[in-house]
Amino acid sequence: MAVIAFIGLGNMGSGMAVNLVKAGHEVRGFDLNQDAVAVFSGQGGKAASSVLEAVSGVDAVVTMLPAGKHVRGIYEGEEGIIAHVKPDAILMDCSTIDVDSARAVGEAAATAGIKFVDAPVSGGVAAAEGGTLTFMVGGPESAFEAARPYLEKMGKAVIRAGDAGAGQAAKICNNMLLGIHMIGTCEAFALAQKLGLDPQRFFDISSKASGQNWSMTSYCPVPGPVPAAPSNRGYKPGFAAPMMLKDLRLALETAQSADAAIPLGAHAERLYTLFTESGGNEKDFSGIIEMIAANRTE
Ligand code: NAD
Repeated sequence: MAVIAFIGLGNMGSGMAVNLVKAGHEVRGFDLNQDAVAVFSGQGGKAASSVLEAVSGVDAVVTMLPAGKHVRGIYEGEEGIIAHVKPDAILMDCSTIDVDSARAVGEAAATAGIKFVDAPVSGGVAAAEGGTLTFMVGGPESAFEAARPYLEKMGKAVIRAGDAGAGQAAKICNNMLLGIHMIGTCEAFALAQKLGLDPQRFFDISSKASGQNWSMTSYCPVPGPVPAAPSNRGYKPGFAAPMMLKDLRLALETAQSADAAIPLGAHAERLYTLFTESGGNEKDFSGIIEMIAANRTE
């Protein structure tokens, strides 16, 4: 049994931290939101009142935070995690952040002789709770091996993508593709309906034909065919539209610095901007079908 600090008990982190508790570890949870810490301590976790209290003397640290600035803010500097953990601790940042921030934190940890991986996840809240996430890991081989036993308690697949920042690079490319095929799937269902096709019948056909994709068969944007999908509960997230927009903006920034053309990724970013600015801000990202079906795409 290890002692683990878990920072960021939000939609994703809360379920992930509980899975580490269920695996028999002592887990100290901290979040700026005290209600989240209270819920976690009711589920077998230990409440910490600050980042530094949580990480003091632990074997492992997991962070699940909104963006790069939050991650750099708590890892770097004299008051940061890197300066205050045991020298043999393994640090794992599972947030989705920009590649440059992930590399900067990885370098700061390496300079201090501390093992760190960027380990963003694929899979939503249900996968976080069910322990079936996919982890894409960036960092040295030795850090990957140290992180793996912890990540395996929270996921079904743990794959090393490469050196520091490579996990985030894989995540950004994956989520750009997700945004594009969700929009494509929404367009297909909206058009099918306008052509008089029953959505369930179109699903039955396309899910067994060459249009098949994850947005259709695991997260269908029309109610009915996939009972667990947010479309069956008024597009309550799930994976909120602003989170998808954040990932598409990361893809745009990253593509610019890598001199890569991403015409569909760029268009997906414009459509999700329109969606979040026209009532979709609180909705799941699959809710963009309502905007597309209403022909509001300009
Ligand atoms: P969330 O907003 O629900 O949770 C983030 C938590 O971090 C909040 O509880 C917030 O209070 C806390 N926090 C922020 N700054 C902090 C600090 N300095 N110290 C302690 N706590 C702090 O977000 P989420 O949906 O759990 O997503 C977390 C990360 O996972 C994001 O990077 C997101 O892109 C990524 N992600 C989300 C999903 C999803 O389906 N929600 C899927 C894959 C990846």
